[in-house]
Amino acid sequence: MSSFFNEKFQDLEAYIPGEQPKDQTYIKLNANENPYPPSPGVLEVINESSVRGLNKYPDSNITRMKMLLAEHFQVQEDNVFVSNGSDESLAMAFMAFCDRDGIVFPSITYSFYIVYAELFGLAYREIPLEKDFSIQIEDYINIHQNIIIANPNAPSGLALSRAEIEEIVQSNPENLVMIDEAYVNFGGETAVPLIQKYDNLLVIHTFSKSHSLAGARLGFAIGNEEIIGDLEKIRNSINPYNVNSLSMLAGEQAILDHEYYMAQCQRIMDNRKILTDELRKFGFKVLDSKGNFILVEPRGILAKSYYQALRKKGILIRYFGTDQLKDYVRITIGSEEQVRILLERTEEILENR
Ligand SMILES: *Cc1c(COP(=O)(O)O)cnc(C)c1O
Repeated sequence: MSSFFNEKFQDLEAYIPGEQPKDQTYIKLNANENPYPPSPGVLEVINESSVRGLNKYPDSNITRMKMLLAEHFQVQEDNVFVSNGSDESLAMAFMAFCDRDGIVFPSITYSFYIVYAELFGLAYREIPLEKDFSIQIEDYINIHQNIIIANPNAPSGLALSRAEIEEIVQSNPENLVMIDEAYVNFGGETAVPLIQKYDNLLVIHTFSKSHSLAGARLGFAIGNEEIIGDLEKIRNSINPYNVNSLSMLAGEQAILDHEYYMAQCQRIMDNRKILTDELRKFGFKVLDSKGNFILVEPRGILAKSYYQALRKKGILIRYFGTDQLKDYVRITIGSEEQVRILLERTEEILENR
């Protein structure tokens, strides 16, 4: 640490992304990436002519993408905010809205929430999950604090219904409720229609998981036009060119190719069912996931040993190793072939232990 570093950041614990080792090629099931490539349409729009256009700044108003998203979600363009990954929407929303009354979130969830709360010096409170990792919605009713919930939650994969989200939003009218729907296209129910009715709801989405564009860094948020206006003020005060022109083109085309992505999501859900069923046959405990990942408690082998053994065999999964998750691993749902290989390696590991 340099002697120049702002004192308030000295104890900051940054987010730790999933490992990306380069010593060999791994089957990478540790970052909830989509195993399938972007749509053929996206491959076409990233071409010589779009690369030539890189000498110009991107459209700082993100006009076409907002128009396409508004059309897709049946909202107005001023209900849409676009960001460099949804992490940026989250960061800007934490910065913009959560100073007064602090923010609450489940004790086991996306670990960036706590990082942003610390970074922006926000008061935060973690609400414990039930033993089965479910969210008790009563804990979020009438609490007079800002709220963020990932729905489906990570890494549990468990989801709340739109009606349950509505109860939470309705009972906290003076505070902002943020619903992070990074995984909603893998079987969840979106809260977007509720924004017509509630002006304290912000729904955050990403192209990283269901739309095979993690590398493009694209996310967006949908909410009341005043909330979106505030986010625009923050964005234009940090980086009005937050979305680069190639990613913008890719994202616009991805919205148009919705059917392609929904078909890939269905494949992932089918693969999730196969993986869940087969791991349960080994005696593993697997939560019922609505995400492109499953939370698994191995049996007959420690979670950490299972993670290490798979790594030796060229497969990366996520082992968190925290107190609450030390007996669990999170496995991203891969392609049909990746699932088959994972199951074969698991069987070998269990036979040779
Ligand atoms: C992956 C993920 C994000 C971040 O997505 P990016 O758009 O890649 O920044 C946000 N929230 C949750 C819950 C996630 O799992």
